[in-house]
Amino acid sequence: MHVTFLVVPGHGHINPTLGVVAELVKRGHRVTYPVPEKFVDAIQATGAESVLYESPLNQTWDPPRRFTSSFFASFQLRLLEEALVMVPVLEKYLAGNPPDLISYDGFVPFAARVLGHAWNRPLLMTSPTLASNENFSLREQFAKRGMTRPAEDDPAVIELRERFATFATGYGVPSDRMDAMRELSASGDAPMIVFVPKRFQPAADTFGDRYVFVGPCLTERPHQGDWRPSGNEPVLLISLGTAFNDRPEFFRACLEAFAGTPWQVVMSIGARIDPADLGPLPSNVAVHPHVPQVQVLRHARAFVSHGGMGSTMEALYHAVPLVAVPQMPEQEINAERVVELGLGRMLHPDAVTGAAIRDAVDELATDEATRARLADMSRHIRATDAATVAADVMEARARNGS
Ligand code: UDP
Repeated sequence: MHVTFLVVPGHGHINPTLGVVAELVKRGHRVTYPVPEKFVDAIQATGAESVLYESPLNQTWDPPRRFTSSFFASFQLRLLEEALVMVPVLEKYLAGNPPDLISYDGFVPFAARVLGHAWNRPLLMTSPTLASNENFSLREQFAKRGMTRPAEDDPAVIELRERFATFATGYGVPSDRMDAMRELSASGDAPMIVFVPKRFQPAADTFGDRYVFVGPCLTERPHQGDWRPSGNEPVLLISLGTAFNDRPEFFRACLEAFAGTPWQVVMSIGARIDPADLGPLPSNVAVHPHVPQVQVLRHARAFVSHGGMGSTMEALYHAVPLVAVPQMPEQEINAERVVELGLGRMLHPDAVTGAAIRDAVDELATDEATRARLADMSRHIRATDAATVAADVMEARARNGS
């Protein structure tokens, strides 16, 4: 079998797929995976074939501070632009030998539908985040937080329709199917693999068998190098993830709050901040642009996080309590669920102080009831061999298109 993965080039999207990719390769399948340069190592470490393309999204990503409906519209347009570049590169690479199955992320609907049609191959969606249905919908949750669906006459929506029509027509896809494509995640009966455990999904019981909640599918990520604690002090990881992390004031507040405490602090500040701008570093804090997060979490006693779903799942897998300081609507939704399940705390980013973060960390790290709930969630997650289940679903879908 040959599977092609179509995934938006972000750590929070690519990382969740790596476990199933490695499992497919282990079973002797061919996996092709288009990515920009910075993800080539991650893909090759699984044994899959990376297909290199220049990502417009990666080159120009400038995270917004406000999440409005026009951001939503312009982001859709950028996802289409990504497809316009990636699809021809992939086609050339495969040279007339299409895969048996297209596994795609919900952020790559344009490329997925066009290639599914052009190659006449089954599609299977994977979701690194919560699934939506009529009882729980991310779109509604976003709307509540000001990110409503853009108006039909929004210039970005008009441009999206026009440019998609040209793209789709070139592949013989009826361009009036664009809406169907955007709604793909909430319709149809093809299976969907969700990298979130069923217990974390709100309204979980209302999601039918089509939704396969495999939970996080972690790998060792050897391309990230090794990490070990440097002493016996408890390890605290602080990170705002990789996409909405340009918050020097947040990291400065944390530095001040944790200086001289017994915590061994590992801080991942992302590529946009110069560590020198954070001022002198206390001796108990190490600052890095990027850390081997799963390895750090293996040793961590607490995690101050933006609440991205990848980070949230990795923390829960390792039963590490979360202090979430969400930076955008989806992270807030995740953080609220963490609080609802008693697995951590949420602090509002506009009002947060270093002292409040430190108090929350100190309190959670010793709270037995939270630790017990985390241990239970971790057991629930580990009870499913996510990579095996996901690979089985993919094999079945490729075999019988179901
Ligand atoms: N990550 C990492 N090292 C870092 C920061 C992040 O390995 O220093 C990984 C993390 O383990 C997770 C992904 O990047 O798998 C981030 O995804 P998430 O959904 O948490 O947030 P995003 O970066 O998409 O906002």
